[in-house]
Amino acid sequence: GQQAPVKLDTPAGVHSFLDQYDTFLFDCDGVLWLGTHLLPLVKETLAMLTAKGKQLYFVTNNSTKSRAAYAKKFASFGITVGVEQIFTSSYAAALHVRDELRLAPGADKIWVFGEAGIQDELQLMGYETMGGADERLDAPFAADASPFLEGGLDPAVRAVVAGLDTHLNYHRLSVTLQYLQQPEVAFVATNLDNTLPQKGLKLPGAGTMIQCLVTASGREPQACGKPNQNMLKSIVAATGLDRTRTCMVGDRLNTDMRFGADGGLGTLLVLTGIETEAGALAPSAEHPQPAYYADKLGSLYEFSEI
Ligand code: PLP
Ligand code: CA
Repeated sequence: GQQAPVKLDTPAGVHSFLDQYDTFLFDCDGVLWLGTHLLPLVKETLAMLTAKGKQLYFVTNNSTKSRAAYAKKFASFGITVGVEQIFTSSYAAALHVRDELRLAPGADKIWVFGEAGIQDELQLMGYETMGGADERLDAPFAADASPFLEGGLDPAVRAVVAGLDTHLNYHRLSVTLQYLQQPEVAFVATNLDNTLPQKGLKLPGAGTMIQCLVTASGREPQACGKPNQNMLKSIVAATGLDRTRTCMVGDRLNTDMRFGADGGLGTLLVLTGIETEAGALAPSAEHPQPAYYADKLGSLYEFSEI
């Protein structure tokens, strides 16, 4: 069976942990920050790892932002991160459309159920998008009055890409469902996180909203974010990282730890987000246990300095 998770709470333990890896993949929310509030000693930890020559990449299931918008978020915390270090579920979905579905930029169109991050990444690849944040979808739905249904469905639409939509409404669900009833239109999801923690509240995640579409259409989407291994494959292809020398750092067992464990990476769970120490230590048939866990990411900095 699996080894019990090792807690990183001594200088010797942290030094030997750091020696095992050249590359770190970081989940963002719950590891680096909570919403708009940076967690303690995160800047110091990232600077310490960089000073040791480690490669750092950031892997988030947040589909609402593009990679460029994420780079700005890092900058707002005074952390310099390049777009090439960032992998979002919105980008993973766009890669799926291009590399797996092989849809043609400039010809095939994508119907978006979700926010700007999805549209931005698809448009950067040359795809024309419809739906998404279009203001006309804010209007109440009437079956004979939607501007999106008046002239019939657009036959150029070859895929629906769905993610979290904080403007979710009946109009968006209804038009998206019309496209999903076309068997030739692919159904792609950015991620299926059931919940989204925010300011101490548990809020509905992308998976909850996408389940509305699953129930209505009777179809299952291809989900592209963590723990999908295609996302890791594209990160390996883009960065050349060595899986045996890479550690995935996250706060969620069923996405981050699953993503790392399935990919043959080391795994570190931090307790500043979703999971508790009891959860980290409880063997489960559903989730992999992490190889390591720590109270917070900043523990790496604290113990590495001793
Ligand atoms: N989805 C959305 C819409 C979010 O806002 C967040 C967190 O900010 C997440 C998913 C989870 O992101 P992460 O994978 O960085 O924890
Ligand atoms: Ca997280």
